Formats: sequence, C-alpha cells, structure tokens
Amino acid sequence: MIYFDHNATTPILPEVKEVMAEAMHEYWGNPSSGHTMGKKAADKLAFARNTLAELLSVSSEEIVFTSGGTEADNLSILGIVEPTLESAILISDIEHPAVSDTADYLVRHGVCCERIPIDNQGIVQVETLANAVNEKVKLISVMFANNEIGTIQPMKEIGEIAAQNSILFHSDAVQAFGKVPLNVVENNISLCAISSHKIYGPKGCGALYVKKGVPLNPRTYGGGQEHGLRTGTQNLPAILGFVEAAQIAYNKMSEEKQFLMDLTEYMYTEISSCIENVIRNGHPQKRIPGTLNLSFPGVISEMVVEELIKERICMSGGAACHSGTTEPSHVLLALGRRKQEAVAGVRFSLGRASNREEVDVVVKILKRVIESLRDLNS
Ligand code: PLP
Repeated sequence: MIYFDHNATTPILPEVKEVMAEAMHEYWGNPSSGHTMGKKAADKLAFARNTLAELLSVSSEEIVFTSGGTEADNLSILGIVEPTLESAILISDIEHPAVSDTADYLVRHGVCCERIPIDNQGIVQVETLANAVNEKVKLISVMFANNEIGTIQPMKEIGEIAAQNSILFHSDAVQAFGKVPLNVVENNISLCAISSHKIYGPKGCGALYVKKGVPLNPRTYGGGQEHGLRTGTQNLPAILGFVEAAQIAYNKMSEEKQFLMDLTEYMYTEISSCIENVIRNGHPQKRIPGTLNLSFPGVISEMVVEELIKERICMSGGAACHSGTTEPSHVLLALGRRKQEAVAGVRFSLGRASNREEVDVVVKILKRVIESLRDLNS
C-alpha cells in the first residue's frame, strides 16, 4: 500500500502511542480532582499546555485544548461574531467547511459574510480584503494553508490589515501547524486553530490559541475547564499524544520541509514529463511541503481515485461526488480553473515516510490510468 493522503490524516507515531498508553495507565485521574490521582493528571496537563505554548512562542494561558480543528474553528467564529444584522465577517473563498459552513450558519442569522477571492495561484487578494473592511466586520478569517492545494497565505499582510482596523484575526492553521513556522504573534493572529491528527498524533484532539484579552465567548457550559472556553473533562491521553507529536514535528520541521519540497517537486517533474496536459494547482513555492495538486483535463478525479485504490494507492480527488454528480472543487474553481479542469483535480499529499521509490510506482500507474481514462472519455 502506498499512502499519499497525509492532508486527510497521518498514521500515529510509535512514540505517540507509547505516551498515550502511559497516560492511560498512570494518569487516568481527573485533572480537576484535588487528590493524588487528580494532581498527577493536572501536572501532566500543565506540562502539555506549557510545551505547546513554548512551541508556539505564546503563554500557556493562551492555549485551549479542543477536540480538533473543527471545534477550534467553530469556537473562534461563533465565540466572536454575534448572529445579528449588525455583524459581518470576512473569510477567504477557499476556507475549509469548518470555517465556511460556520460562516454560512451566521449568514442564515443575518450576519453579512464577504468571501475574499484568491488569485490564480491560490493567494488571497489582500487589497480586496482591505477594501472589504467596514465598521461591522468583527472577524477576519483566513486559513494559514489550504488543505487541497497547500498554498500558504500572506499572514503578515492580513494581520496588519486586521491590526490597523482593530479587527480580530482568526486563522485555521490545521494544515500548516508542525509543517511550517506559524509565528502567531508576529502575524498578529488573535485566534489560531490547530489539530493533532495531521501531524502523526491521535484524532479527536487539537487546540486553539486565544490571544490574551480576546473577548471569546464559550459555546459550551459546565465545569469550567480550559479557562471556561472549552468546558468538559480533558482527554489527557490524546492531549499528551498530540503534544508529543507536535514536539517531534517541530524538531524535524526544517529537515522535513526540504525533503518534502524536493520529493513533491521530483514527483511533479516526473509526472509532467510522461503525461501530457497536466495543470499544477496552487503556488509552486508558497505551499506546505508535501502537497501536490494536479488537474488532468479529460478525466474525472473520482475515477482516478477509484483506479488508484485498485492498485492500493491512497490519495484524494479534489471533487466531491454527491449522488452521482461530480461537483467541481470550490478551491479549484476559485483559482479560475474551468469546470472540466476543476473536476479533474487530484491531490497527492506526501509525508514523512514517503520516498522516491513510492513516487516512481505512483507515476507509472498514474500514467496508465490517466491515458486509459482519457481514451475512454474521448
Ligand atoms: N481545517 C482544515 C484546513 C483541515 O484540513 C481540516 C481537516 O481536514 C480541519 C480544519 C478539521 O480538523 P479536524 O479534523 O481536527 O476537526
């Protein structure tokens, strides 16, 4: 089996499993209990919070553990933007549904939401964003890096616009965390969502950075854990596993970044030299290192995915197939791709254990698959 779908999820590292197993054996107490078992768990929780805060160069009071990226995004948006006619939110045109569907919910309650377009390499049009600012805007939400095409956004420029206009800035950094430096303070990010399972940690765990002083309202009420912002007994084994994975990712970041940039570049060169009419989607340099998104006009991505599954290759189609009709990817359409190009987009997301031998196998099979699907469709 060849796994080229690391933007969907990653396998859990052995070191992470060990930390989680230890937590289940030794630190099963409730961190909110005052007795010995509670104290042992609370100390571990404090260790996890401090470690994550250090990696992000923020203070530990600014870390809120959540059940993952989706919850952190929802909390950020719904905890800031009141569902009234007096509120507005600016989001990019290529947000993950964790952000765009949350914004849509607010729109149904009268909030004005403007979607800022991207250019043909996937970069948010910063000038359009600046011009869209008005006194009703309570939040700007732009993802750090896109999950389909990998493009990294100009965080510093967007952060400056937010600061100049005293608007809070939320970023979904689920795909960027652990792969590229985040610099939340330097980029003036007020709320930053991250997730564990994209960096070889367990699923169902993540965190939200909440800048000190940001008036975030909780979405759930109860025992008051996580500074009252995400109440409920913490999943300590998952949190410790997440933080272990994060430490490993940060230690390996620069080496891995170069390795994956080179490997995806190699893959692109090989594919474009043996398959005709390939379109690369997204910015070739300003991207998270393992992502390669390509359109093969004349095919439908879901069919490519199905053919590759037969060859035990895991990757992803950019298009979502609903009840027999293939919807083009909204990200590829936002890039300006025509419908035939947007339904033909496939995503390879390589990871730590990927290598040239795997790439060579995938390229060889992909060539055969694309050529036969094109023959079939012509
Ligand atoms: N945001 C982005 C950009 C993602 O890629 C994902 C996961 O695919 C999420 C949010 C959701 O994160 P989680 O699966 O931790 O809820």
